[in-house]
Amino acid sequence: MILLWNDTFISEDELRISKDDRGYHFGDGVYEVIKVYGASMFTAEEHIDRLYESADKIKLIIPYTKDVLQKMLYDLVETNNVIDGHIYLQITRGVVPRQHYFPSEGIEPMLLAYTKEAERPLNQFEAGVKAKFVEDVRWLRCDIKSLNLLGNVLAKQEAHEEGCYEAILHRGEKVTEGSSSNIFGIKGGVLYTHPADNFILNGITRRVILQCCKEIGIPVIEEAFTREQTLAMDELFLSSTTSEITPIIEVEGNRIGSGARGQWTEKLQESFEKKLPQAIGI
Ligand code: PLP
Repeated sequence: MILLWNDTFISEDELRISKDDRGYHFGDGVYEVIKVYGASMFTAEEHIDRLYESADKIKLIIPYTKDVLQKMLYDLVETNNVIDGHIYLQITRGVVPRQHYFPSEGIEPMLLAYTKEAERPLNQFEAGVKAKFVEDVRWLRCDIKSLNLLGNVLAKQEAHEEGCYEAILHRGEKVTEGSSSNIFGIKGGVLYTHPADNFILNGITRRVILQCCKEIGIPVIEEAFTREQTLAMDELFLSSTTSEITPIIEVEGNRIGSGARGQWTEKLQESFEKKLPQAIGI
C-alpha cells in the first residue's frame, strides 16, 4: 500500500515516525476520514473544508492549498486502486522536542494519509445496532476533529464491553452525540438532533442527512433531547462517514419504537444512497 507522507508518496516500510512528533506526545493535530465509493471520494470538499477549519481552530497552518490536497488524495485513491473503502488523513503540528507551547517558526506540520478497502456494512444498515448511554466527559471543543480522542475511546470501550456498537454521550440529561457518530431521533415524523455547536462534531454525514430531510420534507428540530426522550423516540439512528445511517434499535435493554429499523430511517437511507457516487444498493 502506498501512503501520502507530506507531499510525497511512499511505501509503508519507508514510513519513519519521529518520537518527537507532537501528534505522539499531545495528540496535537487534526484528522479526517473520507469515504470512497466506486473509486470516487464522497463529499471530499466538505471533508477538506472541515479539516482546514479544525486546523485553523488549533492555529495549525496546513502548508498546501485545498486544491493541491484534494488532488493528492485523488492520486492516492487511484494509486492504491481503492474501489470501496476510505481515506484516513491526519496532520500534526510537527516534530520538535517535547514542550507544551507551540514550536517556533520553521517547524513543518506532518501529514499522513492512507487508504483502506472496506465493504459497506449493509446488514447493519437494516438490522440496526444496540447502544449504551455514557456520560460525556470530553472537553468543550468537540467541534474540532482533533486527534485527542481519549474521551471518545473510553466511552466506546464502555459500550463495547456491554456488547453495544455505540455509546450515546450525554452531558447531564442532554444527549450530545455518539463516541464516533452523530445521534438523531424521530418522533411523530419530526427529526431531532443536537445543534452544531461546540458540544458536537458537525458530521459531514449529518449535513447530508439534513439535506435529505429537506428534500423528503421531514421537519427538523436542531435541539438537544434528553435521555428519557431518547428512549421514547419512534426511531433512533446514528450517522458517520463509515456507518452512514445506522438504526439504533435498543438502548440499555429498552427497545426503541418497534425494535426494528423504522420507516423514516429507511427513507433517509434511500435518499442518502441516491447521493452516493455510485448507487450500490442496500
Ligand atoms: N461525532 C464524532 C465524535 C465523530 O468522531 C464522528 C466521525 O468520526 C462524527 C460525529 C460523524 O462525522 P462524519 O459524518 O463527518 O463522519
